[in-house]
Amino acid sequence: MTIQGKTALVTGGSRGIGRAVCLRLAAMGVVVGINYVGNREAAEETLATIKDLGGSGFLCQFDVADASGVQESFKQIGAEHGVVEILVNNAGITRDGLMARMKEDDWDKVLDTNLKGAFLCSKAAMRAMMKNRWGRIINISSVIGFLGNAGQVNYASAKAGLVGLTKSMARELAPRSVTVNCVAPGYIVTDMTSGLGEDIQQAIKAQIPLGTLGTPEDVAAAVAFLAGEDAAYMTGQTLHVNGGMYMGN
Ligand code: NDP
Repeated sequence: MTIQGKTALVTGGSRGIGRAVCLRLAAMGVVVGINYVGNREAAEETLATIKDLGGSGFLCQFDVADASGVQESFKQIGAEHGVVEILVNNAGITRDGLMARMKEDDWDKVLDTNLKGAFLCSKAAMRAMMKNRWGRIINISSVIGFLGNAGQVNYASAKAGLVGLTKSMARELAPRSVTVNCVAPGYIVTDMTSGLGEDIQQAIKAQIPLGTLGTPEDVAAAVAFLAGEDAAYMTGQTLHVNGGMYMGN
């Protein structure tokens, strides 16, 4: 059995890791919903690339942190493209700063997008998955959720929270053959990390046994594995894609 012809939704699919996941799933014959919040141009470019490569997909704009927007969008996707069978909770932001100076709003924004967004989208998708007795939910965490990082208490908390969300959902949905897993990337070359100075990048590379930052495609490969039938007996797990930077569980 393959996942060809199934419908996926990738939150934050317009750029970076999400874009690579969209391309990879489309190459497996999945119909890919590309979610974005503001950058329509990037989302359109991702869709055009999918179509150039012979795949199919569609755009869906909504803010993952907006409960009613999420509900409406999933309803619309179900009506127009079929229910979401593979959900990749990838949308994420950073608002860095040392705890002593971090504003409450920076905490709220990061938790709302990175953690609550995954809760809202999963909630919107899970009923149909349970009814169909098949589904895949893949949450994009981060090595920072496992190691912590000075200047990122908000981001580390959200990313660690995703691991707890994953394990609890995995237990709840397993009786209906819906699997829920995490992918925890290390440092990946995207817009999110492009602002890091050369000196910081060198310091990061020194902590990575494989010696380089990763690519969005490295992460997409792990997501594709978890979405496919080969991972049918895996749930509640985290795949670490970090060049060896963190080797724990
Ligand atoms: P980018 O900054 O390159 O892209 C972020 C994506 O998220 C964009 O598609 C953006 O949409 C979307 N997005 C942001 N906020 C919202 C929202 N409220 N609702 C819907 N979509 C939203 O990020 P990366 O590709 O680097 O990161 C993707 C995920 O991987 C994130 O969860 C990140 O935390 C995680 N990660 C990244 C690492 C890295 O080194 N890059 C390392 C570990 C984890 P739009 O284009 O419209 O702005």
